[in-house]
Amino acid sequence: MNRRALISVSDKTGVVEFARGLAELGFEIVSTGGTYKTIKAAGVPVTYVTEITGFPEILDGRVKTLHPKVHGGILARRTPEHLAQLEAHAIVPIDVVAVNLYPFRETVAKPGVTREDAVENIDIGGPAMVRASAKNHESVAIVVNPARYEAVLAELQQSGIVSEATRRALAREAFAHTAEYDAAIAAYLAAEEGEGDPFAGIFAPGKVEKVQDLRYGENPHQKAAFYRETGYQGAGAGTAKQRWGKELSFNNLLDLNAALELAREFDRPAAAIIKHNNPCGVAVAATLKEAYEKAFAADPVSAFGGIIAFNVAVDADTANEVVKTFMEAVIAPSFDEAAIEILQQKKGLRIMEAGPLANSAPATADVKKIRGGFLVQEADLGAVTADQIQVVTERAPEEGELADLLFAWKVVKHVKSNAIVIAKDGVAIGVGAGQMNRVGSAQIALEQAKDSQALGGNNGVDSDNCPASQGAVLASDAFLPFKDTVETAARYGIRAVIQPGGSVRDAESIEACNRLGVAMVFTGMRHFKH
Ligand code: 5GP
Repeated sequence: MNRRALISVSDKTGVVEFARGLAELGFEIVSTGGTYKTIKAAGVPVTYVTEITGFPEILDGRVKTLHPKVHGGILARRTPEHLAQLEAHAIVPIDVVAVNLYPFRETVAKPGVTREDAVENIDIGGPAMVRASAKNHESVAIVVNPARYEAVLAELQQSGIVSEATRRALAREAFAHTAEYDAAIAAYLAAEEGEGDPFAGIFAPGKVEKVQDLRYGENPHQKAAFYRETGYQGAGAGTAKQRWGKELSFNNLLDLNAALELAREFDRPAAAIIKHNNPCGVAVAATLKEAYEKAFAADPVSAFGGIIAFNVAVDADTANEVVKTFMEAVIAPSFDEAAIEILQQKKGLRIMEAGPLANSAPATADVKKIRGGFLVQEADLGAVTADQIQVVTERAPEEGELADLLFAWKVVKHVKSNAIVIAKDGVAIGVGAGQMNRVGSAQIALEQAKDSQALGGNNGVDSDNCPASQGAVLASDAFLPFKDTVETAARYGIRAVIQPGGSVRDAESIEACNRLGVAMVFTGMRHFKH
């Protein structure tokens, strides 16, 4: 007797070739309505499922394969007892099952989908077959992913069977598929009922897929791996393609992410250099080369061995600047071919192509691990525009100051709290990160800004009398709890401050600004980053 394969797929990709291959190996192919038609139209011998069940497809297809002739054939162990029972009921064992499910996710993603449509797209018989086959993986190969057809056929052609290792892997994939399917249904129904859990299903099986093991984690004694969000279409560090360079490390990926998320904040050509997850150089300019030169010059000591992100295509001029120093990695939407050739002078430099940033899918939830749990939040996509900020001092910022304030506000969002950024002419000339008190971060940022060479001209002639920070602006990621930050900043020549506001001592900071001629604006939004 021929061996039997059951094929019932919504996604018909590759199904004809798979069926033909199985038929050539002597399998009898059993199929449901649509699949049957597709296979038959291609001239491959196929049996309609109703012929083996002796029962029509009823209820508009709600009941097609839910029948002992199908499920008995799938679930029977190949023991004499079970086989005898099959025989007694004239049931033929089914060795290969290819099923993929009604496109529920795609259906509910369509604008204006009705609940009726959605419900009709809840597959019942499909998951039953998938789960039955996966349960009986000792004897049955269950293929839910058309990408596996070729390998499964190849094994059957070579040895007549699908190996145990493959059957086990297929079963894992199958259960992940049905679990993800049910999670999508649950998430849809929850959203429909207005429960509105923005994180529904984010930990569902199948939401992430392993990309690769990493050599190690943050430190060499920690094992590590890189997982990707299944199906995420946006441009990000997790989806970027490596064009060149050494294997990516755990820390590279973290920093590539920090760098790209910062660079993508800006409308003008921008460069961001990251070290240990904090920016040590950020600049916007008329050209990308200029932006990079300024970002690098902001803190050349820290920039060495850093990770660079650009927000527009990298050209040859910019590439020529990048190769002047040792850098770990560079990420950008794209690279001109001439730029790639120049960057390839650096054997180890990791070149990461992220794809277009504009209109990229929005960032999904941000997940942090604590021992014994996970914390989930929406990604910080907060931003403010010139008309959303509130001037709270007697003096309003001048035009150039305003541009720098908004620039600094974008940068400070990407600095670990407590975060202070000093900016001037589109360059972050001082960054204070991760201090436990705000004035401490301010002091670090201001000291660095005072001696900055990023804008040329000062060259430290007499940095105390003419500090580079003169005329710069200051951004603070959270409110200033005391007036000390403003007073310190003014001593370094800071002319304007941007901060969320909302401290019980706001009035003291405002009074200090007015006394010192500093302009201050409130954003009403905080950018903690831990
Ligand atoms: P076809 O295009 O072959 O008519 O239908 C294939 C789809 O039907 C597959 O996605 C499969 O999961 C699903 N399916 C198979 N048997 C049943 C059943 O008994 N009930 C329901 N609701 N769906 C089924």
